Amino acid sequence: MTTTRPVSKAESAHPEAEVAFAAFIRRLAHDAATLRAIKSGKVDAILDPASGRAILLPEAREALRRGAAPANQILATLPREEYQRLLAAGLEPVTLALGEVLHEPGELIRQIYFPNESLLVSLVTRIQNHGALEIALVGSEGMVGLPVAQGIGTASVRAVAQGTGTALRMEAARFCEALGTCLALQRALHRYTHALIAQITQTAACNRFHQVEARLARWLLMASDRLQSNLIRFTHEWLADLLGVRRVGVTVAASALQQQRLIQYSRGNITILDREGLKASACECYQKIKDIFDCA
Ligand SMILES: [Zn+2]
Repeated sequence: MTTTRPVSKAESAHPEAEVAFAAFIRRLAHDAATLRAIKSGKVDAILDPASGRAILLPEAREALRRGAAPANQILATLPREEYQRLLAAGLEPVTLALGEVLHEPGELIRQIYFPNESLLVSLVTRIQNHGALEIALVGSEGMVGLPVAQGIGTASVRAVAQGTGTALRMEAARFCEALGTCLALQRALHRYTHALIAQITQTAACNRFHQVEARLARWLLMASDRLQSNLIRFTHEWLADLLGVRRVGVTVAASALQQQRLIQYSRGNITILDREGLKASACECYQKIKDIFDCA
């Protein structure tokens, strides 16, 4: 255990969110000794026994400290009282790791997730003997587990975290209950559903008709928009899976973009150097998808 500095009352910008966070921690701390250790600031992380995940306290605290203006764009559009209602109903912070699967096709969706800007989640489908292919990318503009909002409890695709990041999550059953009284959230999810279907439709055509280099440029811009950063941490293997091509195809495409000084690629990191140039290299799909999300 290492030392974590406790947050003082004066630093608490949103008291309601701090209360919700405290309730969340109390649910995880099963005995008085654990609670004392957390309160004394002697721990950096605790284990969520429901999922086996480590909850990093500084990140979890930060997620809820931003309670009045959550990082997720859907939650950020909600009236304050509606957001507080979701917190009270069990919306809680979680840290996800690279490769963590949130749901598999045919499985019951047990949790829904609202990613913060640090997290990307790929919706992936698999074709027998052909590997995986990304059909949509979800970041801070969206929600994972959307079928639950339409009364569908079973997933049709795999949802997998692309890197370590934070989100706010909620049990699907409690989310359904809360959604019935959250009219602004209902409207926001209708708009997001429309935009997500448009993204999936455009991605299907993109994967069939556009070259790998243009698709890679499109994907990097989409990831950058959602992460609000020009630095994207990925590997050739992941990108090959996402784009549905062989690893060598990603190497050739990334090298071509790097030679044009649009990106810099080093082990595990891609940095966008020239955003406008990368837009010019991307297929039309990037702007079409972006326009739909901007208008949604
Ligand atoms: Zn395209």
